[in-house]
Amino acid sequence: MKHDKSQAAFERARRLIPGGVNSPARAFGAVGGNPIFFHRAEGAFLHDVDGNRYVDFVGSWGPMILGHRHPAVVEAVEAALARGTSFGAPTEAESELAQLIVDAVPSVEKVRLVNSGTEATASAIRLARGATGRARIVKFAGNYHGHVDSLLVAAGSSAATLAVPDSPGVTLGTSKDTIVLPYNDTQQVVDLFQEQGDRIAAVICEPVVGNMGCVPGTPEFLTMLRQLTMHHGAILIFDEVMSGFRVAYGGAQSRLGIVPDVTTLGKIIGGGLPVGAYGGRAEIMDHVLPAGPVFQAGTLSGNPLATAAGIATLRVLRDSDAYARLESLSAQLADGLSRAAVEAGIAHTIGRCGSMMTLFFKGEPVVNWDGAKQCDTKRFAAWFWALLERGVYMPCSQFEALFVSTAHVPDDVEATVAAARAALAELSDK
Ligand SMILES: *Cc1c(COP(=O)(O)O)cnc(C)c1O
Repeated sequence: MKHDKSQAAFERARRLIPGGVNSPARAFGAVGGNPIFFHRAEGAFLHDVDGNRYVDFVGSWGPMILGHRHPAVVEAVEAALARGTSFGAPTEAESELAQLIVDAVPSVEKVRLVNSGTEATASAIRLARGATGRARIVKFAGNYHGHVDSLLVAAGSSAATLAVPDSPGVTLGTSKDTIVLPYNDTQQVVDLFQEQGDRIAAVICEPVVGNMGCVPGTPEFLTMLRQLTMHHGAILIFDEVMSGFRVAYGGAQSRLGIVPDVTTLGKIIGGGLPVGAYGGRAEIMDHVLPAGPVFQAGTLSGNPLATAAGIATLRVLRDSDAYARLESLSAQLADGLSRAAVEAGIAHTIGRCGSMMTLFFKGEPVVNWDGAKQCDTKRFAAWFWALLERGVYMPCSQFEALFVSTAHVPDDVEATVAAARAALAELSDK
């Protein structure tokens, strides 16, 4: 496989854009080597600038649950385009997308649209602090909530050290009200609330983590978060930017039957265009300006093109057998990868919830960030490149989830498993 044009495109980009990319996960930093530049996508496939084709399991990091250029989404965006790209004034489409979200997500009675997942979590934190009059936020190591200053602490694939910000530019003052605990560890949350429950504004978590690789929260852990926050008057925020409309139409909360106070969304609800959202009980959401005093605004929020793509995507998901098909394709992929790793004698474990999953190069199940960090990331890098050369585009980090879309068919999965078998045989020390 040739990558000459990607190479040239990256060299140019590096002169103009920091690191050559507009988001760091794209730079292949965790696997070494240079990123591939793409120019077209269709269904389950990506086409790069050198004319290579790949089965896509990145799905733009989550949004493309229907695959690329789904006809219903293309049609909706084209129709919106013909009517104007931005009004900075209310449209009926915003209520239509809000209605779809309210109908689907158990915790959401009212919802505010924003432009990214980061905006959604930043706004949800401000709302929680504004509504409770408290400052402290509890988050979990290895959970990523976008690049919100106060949440850039132990945020998954970035460097994680307890209570120290992950990034220069985030002051200790900003992160000092953020408490980081290990994921899936119930006792530590119980102890913390016993000590300072009345000072905690919110607990934020990914109910199914995607950002240390796929690590589902245990029902006991998430149930305890619900009980403790309720008891102490703190707000429970489920960050479902990735898991919302992914692990089930109503998100992880509908799978688990646990209803948080506030939910953040993004990715899928924009159908591949920039959208985020935060929503919850009306009584909480009515703290937001202009209904209440907590400030939050956006010039392009509720943008007609993004809203149209989101509405079209959610309607297809709602009105089809998408989740049954995703489950069956994902089980087929997980089984195939697992059998291939067993054949090659490679220590592994698979984290999966519906159509998001990770093949971890580690012998025992991964339940938290300390465990994730023990994976053989060198072996992961070799696996990534061996698959890429065989026309399979996987996330370029051990600490990211892969995504199956409704555009994949069983033959795509079978071909991927065959590529995986060949790739893993190459890495085997048998
Ligand atoms: C992707 C993601 C975000 C950030 O969303 P952006 O649109 O990239 O700002 C926040 N939380 C979770 C759980 C995510 O997966």
